[in-house]
Amino acid sequence: MQTCVGKTNSHKTFFFKCTSCNQSYETPLPSFIIEELPKLVDVEPYKLRRSFENGNIKFYNNHGIKALQFRKSVGNIEAGSMICFGDKIEIIRGFPKIRRTLMLYPSLKIHFKDEVAVEEKMNGYNVRIALINSKIIAFTRGGFICPYTTKKAPEIMDMSAFFIDHPELVICGEMVGSENPYVTHSYREIGKLGFRIFDLREKGSNKALSVKDKIKLLESYNLPRVNFFGLLKIDEAPERILELIHQLGNEDREGVVIKDPAMIIEPIKYTSSQAHNGELEYAFTYPFDFGRAFFFSRVIREGFQAYELNETEDEISSRAHKLGESILFPMINTIKEIAKDNHASEDILIHADDLKEAENFARHLRDLGVVATVHSFNEGKAIIRREHQSTSDRISNFLRGGLY
Ligand code: ATP
Ligand code: MG
Repeated sequence: MQTCVGKTNSHKTFFFKCTSCNQSYETPLPSFIIEELPKLVDVEPYKLRRSFENGNIKFYNNHGIKALQFRKSVGNIEAGSMICFGDKIEIIRGFPKIRRTLMLYPSLKIHFKDEVAVEEKMNGYNVRIALINSKIIAFTRGGFICPYTTKKAPEIMDMSAFFIDHPELVICGEMVGSENPYVTHSYREIGKLGFRIFDLREKGSNKALSVKDKIKLLESYNLPRVNFFGLLKIDEAPERILELIHQLGNEDREGVVIKDPAMIIEPIKYTSSQAHNGELEYAFTYPFDFGRAFFFSRVIREGFQAYELNETEDEISSRAHKLGESILFPMINTIKEIAKDNHASEDILIHADDLKEAENFARHLRDLGVVATVHSFNEGKAIIRREHQSTSDRISNFLRGGLY
């Protein structure tokens, strides 16, 4: 066993540390990093070398694909980017981060031009699907190939004709539904598992098709897309979006992504109060397994939304009440469970052909750093049990009198 300790003294060597004997030894940097990679991406060679040495760019070999994975962004190359080696080199860029507005009225005017395209923001997990070595492969956000999504996406929608005609495009979308392994949310029109496409991007450059071209192309291949609420003039957009958010929230839907119709200016997201509370409720079920920034950010969103909507005292009271309930109920419930000697764990339901496939998915989750095991398998349904270890440990320590 060897791990890179990520220190270098010259531009062509780096150190490995043997994990059994603890000795460091010097080894040449792979020539691909020095010679080939700078030709493929527009990043200064020293930055690529440094990222490789620090472990932010890693060799990846899983699910039949060999690649170079960007664990963190380097220059203009997004985290989650994959440089896949096969019949030819394919560059699947990471999905760009979408920034959030807290105040629609000033933000939209400053950020966009005269019109915006408003789409529904679906609450699931981000997936990029592309043709690699003539196979349809699904990547999750960090650039990991997900065996479950790779298997399920083609069962949900037929992408074969699309990829025959457009092998250079990447389908970016959200896997959604009540039975998905990462983010479960019920949508009446989707049920257990569904897919909604929100972007079509070019391999290599990550250039997105305009909203109009994307819709046209998706419709011509009968591929499912996110709801499109129309093009809005910039002056009427904030008010219309606030109305939309209110309706979406009442239907327990997440929010909107506001886009430049040409997809040149980067999009912005805005979400409903129900979405904020839903996420708080989930996170406070496992309070010690989430960073504090996660909680803080959702509370801040509520404050600005109430302000922008110019809410009355009664409306603010009602908002405060829901926010408090989303925090306290789940947390107290978890404390009670742990007091009864139960664990803070979560059961994930997936459909699998056999136990081996379920085990394979649990292994994939463990590779991502999640503590997960197959709890049961019965007639095609596997329950994967995910442990929220810090929550269990910290709460049981406090229950025994440990100090905070
Ligand atoms: P990010 O780094 O993009 O902010 P995040 O995990 O914080 O990621 P979200 O707050 O859910 O994510 O918001 C961005 C995500 O929303 C996108 O990565 C994408 O998966 C999802 N999404 C859902 N609907 C859309 C849409 N219509 N257009 C773009 N993204 C969408
Ligand atoms: Mg999301």
